[in-house]
Amino acid sequence: MAPYRNLEEYNIEITNEVKEHFSKIVGDIGEDVTREGLVKTPERAAKAMLFLTQGYKQDAEEILIGAMFAEDYDDMVIIKDIELYSLCEHHMLPFFGKAHVAYIPNGHIVGLSKIPRVVDIFARRLQVQERLTHDILECINKTLKPKGVAVVIEAAHMCMMMRGVQKQNSVTTTSGFRGQFEKIETRNEFLKLVSADLS
Ligand SMILES: [Zn+2]
Repeated sequence: MAPYRNLEEYNIEITNEVKEHFSKIVGDIGEDVTREGLVKTPERAAKAMLFLTQGYKQDAEEILIGAMFAEDYDDMVIIKDIELYSLCEHHMLPFFGKAHVAYIPNGHIVGLSKIPRVVDIFARRLQVQERLTHDILECINKTLKPKGVAVVIEAAHMCMMMRGVQKQNSVTTTSGFRGQFEKIETRNEFLKLVSADLS
């Protein structure tokens, strides 16, 4: 698998195929694909879709393994308010919000910037919020083998806000806990720290 890249790179063949599909969709919904404002839309939409799903080509475990180092620190490490943008797999509409991740090291820590990358890699796929939470949790658990790991995601779903029930202010919260976070005191300490406004 390719390592994480910030650069936008597109496979020309795949981009062209996706572009053709978007062109068909624009026509099917009753628009004129040749209208000036829409001429380049299928290509832009194709590139946007490929960008938003680039996580399929990235290996989150590899990112963590490459940035791990031995350290005796064994207090809770919390990375909170990680911006998150994903696509729901049911409607391919965005859901977005924040992820809060914590782990208790067990001989190894990881560069702090790598945790948001892991969140991105799993978010840039077609997802459900529950599985996204689980993917992040298990990836950290498997690679760092910490004494405990916790993930909380709070997100708003466009498929709920723009269509269907149109619950415009509802936020969905999902969480997962492993190891020491399965103990109620540790879990509560984490949740207290995550909800505290430190700014
Ligand atoms: Zn949906």
